[in-house]
Amino acid sequence: MKTYRRIETQLVHAGTPEPRVLGAVSTPIFQSATFEYAGETSYDDIRYIRLNNTPNQLSLHRLLSVLERAPAALVTGSGMAAISTTLLSVLGAGDHVLAQNCLYGGTLDLLANEFPKLGIECTFISGTEPESWPAALRPNTRAIYVEAMSNPLLEVADLKAVVRFARDCRLTSIIDSTFATPVNFRPLDIGFDVVLHSATKYLNGHSDLVAGAVAGSRELIERITHRLNHLGGTLDPHAAWLLERGLKTLALRVHQQNQSAMMIAKFLSSHSGVRQVNYPGLATHPSHAGARDLFEGFGGMLSFELAGDVAHTEAFMHRTCIPVIAPSLGGVETLLTRPATTSHSGMTPAQRQQAGISDCLVRMSVGIEATDELIDDLAQALGSYQ
Ligand SMILES: *Cc1c(COP(=O)(O)O)cnc(C)c1O
Repeated sequence: MKTYRRIETQLVHAGTPEPRVLGAVSTPIFQSATFEYAGETSYDDIRYIRLNNTPNQLSLHRLLSVLERAPAALVTGSGMAAISTTLLSVLGAGDHVLAQNCLYGGTLDLLANEFPKLGIECTFISGTEPESWPAALRPNTRAIYVEAMSNPLLEVADLKAVVRFARDCRLTSIIDSTFATPVNFRPLDIGFDVVLHSATKYLNGHSDLVAGAVAGSRELIERITHRLNHLGGTLDPHAAWLLERGLKTLALRVHQQNQSAMMIAKFLSSHSGVRQVNYPGLATHPSHAGARDLFEGFGGMLSFELAGDVAHTEAFMHRTCIPVIAPSLGGVETLLTRPATTSHSGMTPAQRQQAGISDCLVRMSVGIEATDELIDDLAQALGSYQ
């Protein structure tokens, strides 16, 4: 296999079949459920889409392992398929896991409400208070699970302490790095055992598919692959091909989103109509020092609160022209959402308040539109033409 030094180059070239299939510059779509028997000796080697070993899936496995600097990687049918299958490969009945208390809603629900029915217990911990973790340990604790940046406040856990703690206590350390992307952060470099992504978001970047990814040691990825082969959360060839195409521009998109989000965060924090801005690139953010130490860029996600009530906030959102008001994130188009009505609507107002998520909080996923045009649009929606 050819090797490439920088992530911008890897994204364009790594993982494609060598030699090219019939000379095709773009990897063709292998829309075939099954393949001719070629003497395979184990079930997992039979070439069949659900068994995660067909050409479009394999191209992505090679590319993702290069991007995450991992011995092996696996693509899945959704971010939740990556998360649930990984956790079910590391944990079984009678096991216990420590998890950060501000996780993605689907993950939080899975750990809090589904896993107990399977005999897997979870204790939620504060990612920023390592001194509190030893008290949460049990003799049957097997893993610790965190996210690179929390949604929607962009809190960064003490990730180096997570790795140290996992090593000292012989836990598998797992991180969902969806918000950071391999352009801004490679968790395996600082010692995480497994990195997960919702590839639906930045990796694909075009809001047109659902997919997930896992990267880690060869042994662990093989175990997760065999579990996925049975659970069935497989990515189909057409979506795999779209994801490979989307990934080619990941570095261009994320560099632009890093820059644009920083300028927008600065604009909003200087505006008298804005009460609070949460962006780890701002020196005022509680995770600024940690984010600067760990990440190469602060990402494209931010959240803010206007000086005003929910009606005022809703009116502001509807006065904007460029952003689409929609959940999800990480695409080329800027999205606005009010977490109280979307990602965090399952919580009670009291739970949200305790988590620091006001009903007036607006979350912004910055796209790749012109930064000055986005800022002008926010300015007019805020009611001042600066
Ligand atoms: C969206 C998201 C997920 C779930 O991914 P799907 O692709 O929707 O299954 C998991 N973690 C984070 C941080 C997410 O943003």
